[in-house]
Amino acid sequence: MLIEEMKHHECSAMLARATVARLACAVDNQPYVVPIHIDFADGFVYSFSTMGQKIQWMRLNPLVCLEIEEFTSPKQWATLVVFGQYEELPDKPEYTYPRSMAERLFQRHPMWWEPASVPLAGHPHRSPILFRIVVARMSGRRAEPDVSDVREIPTSASNQRRPRWLERTLSRLLRRQS
Ligand SMILES: Cc1cc2nc3c(=O)[nH]c(=O)nc-3n(C[C@H](O)[C@H](O)[C@H](O)COP(=O)(O)OP(=O)(O)OC[C@H]3O[C@@H](n4cnc5c(N)ncnc54)[C@H](O)[C@@H]3O)c2cc1C
Repeated sequence: MLIEEMKHHECSAMLARATVARLACAVDNQPYVVPIHIDFADGFVYSFSTMGQKIQWMRLNPLVCLEIEEFTSPKQWATLVVFGQYEELPDKPEYTYPRSMAERLFQRHPMWWEPASVPLAGHPHRSPILFRIVVARMSGRRAEPDVSDVREIPTSASNQRRPRWLERTLSRLLRRQS
């Protein structure tokens, strides 16, 4: 297996494809991680929540981290780690534009917001909170099968068309040798 760093544009493309991320925040040296739905536009990650622990914690400490993954197999995956700052988008005139960006997201994926917008049984209604993460930096790593993994392919498959990852690995090796 080969693991390589992803370029910045590849990280941005992966973030744009992502629909779910793990959001990590921390207060008093205690980390807290939950999955959330996300959308990415113009350097901001948009999301939506009701009041609860993660909002309380991000208000206290706005430095957060997101983790996103695309898993194909144990030898073929990509992961993204995004560092950023929590910014709440209250219903005030100065937040009209970012709120409209976030609302566009809800219109595209109405099912995402149903759990947050419907009150829990036995609990009072909780007002929705729009927020975004201002992306400060991100890194991506991608794993692909190595040439040693090629040996694992049964000989009966050798006459078939080679998959893209194998073409890429072989051409990389040939480039290194030349
Ligand atoms: C695929 C997916 C997408 C989601 N998308 C969103 C989203 O876009 N916006 C959103 O607000 N929520 C989303 N959720 C739910 C989210 O993960 C949290 O469960 C929820 O937001 C409550 O978080 P909170 O910090 O407000 O917890 P609170 O309701 O304040 O509860 C606090 C305590 O409950 C426990 N807890 C909270 N959440 C979880 C959990 N998921 N699993 C186990 N224990 C938990 C923890 O022990 C925590 O200390 C999503 C969940 C999934 C699975």
